[in-house]
Amino acid sequence: MQDCPAPFTGYRVSTKFFHKNEGRYFVLLITPEGRKTTTSLARYTLSIKEGRLLGRNETADHIDNNRLNDHPDNLQVLSSRDNSKKYRDFSGIKHNAVDLICPICGRSFTKRRNQTHLVKPSVHKITVCSRKCSGILSTKGLSCCVVDVSRNIVREYKEKA
Ligand SMILES: [Zn+2]
Repeated sequence: MQDCPAPFTGYRVSTKFFHKNEGRYFVLLITPEGRKTTTSLARYTLSIKEGRLLGRNETADHIDNNRLNDHPDNLQVLSSRDNSKKYRDFSGIKHNAVDLICPICGRSFTKRRNQTHLVKPSVHKITVCSRKCSGILSTKGLSCCVVDVSRNIVREYKEKA
């Protein structure tokens, strides 16, 4: 157990653990009064990033829709309502989407299949996460890769029958 930063000052936190049914990471917190409580790693991380506890009606949204990517840069506060809307929109395209790992920065992300090198021609035969990484790729080439290129495509979603 470790001491927590604000806004969890006085709390202790366990290392993250994977919750199979929820399909995401959680942490165990011990309150200053010694009570045990669990919260998702996303919610915990975002509270620290925001410097405040999230409200009852606020959720920790994964910007790239990958619930395993709990990096602070990938988390934002959304109302429960906006979060479910985002999820519905995303599920709509999910059947023609691909999960990828950016070979340049190692971030995981999801793209429509037709925006990847599986459909669009690409000199390097890979797809990167952002304009920034695409810039790095074109100036430095693949020598700056942090991820094995063969791992670029993680999973493809079949089109709805
Ligand atoms: Zn990247």
